Amino acid sequence: MDTSKVEDKDITTVKGGALGSSQRSSDTRPDCVPSIEALQEENERLNEKVKCKICLKENIHFVFMPCAHLVACLPCGMTASKCMKCFTVIVEKRKIYLE
Ligand SMILES: [Zn+2]
Ligand SMILES: [Zn+2]
Repeated sequence: MDTSKVEDKDITTVKGGALGSSQRSSDTRPDCVPSIEALQEENERLNEKVKCKICLKENIHFVFMPCAHLVACLPCGMTASKCMKCFTVIVEKRKIYLE
C-alpha cells in the first residue's frame, strides 16, 4: 500500500474583492428525489401493511377494539374473537376504509 499520496481536501479557497458577484442559492439536491425503485418498495410495504394478517389476501377491513390493531379483512374479522397480534379479547370491531 502506497500511502505517500495523501489528498488534502482541507484547502479553503478565499475569494477576495468580489463585490459585484450575484450569489444565487441554486443548491439543487438530487439526493432528496426518491427513485422509482424506492417508491415501488414503499408502495409494496404499504400494501403489506393493509393486507389481512390472517389470509394475507384481502385488505384489512376491521380495527379491533380496544387494542386498535389492524389485522383482519372482512371474512377473517367476522370470525375472530381475539386479536391475532396481541390476543386481546375483541370488544368491538370497527370498520375502516382504506380508500
Ligand atoms: Zn383475511
Ligand atoms: Zn391487538
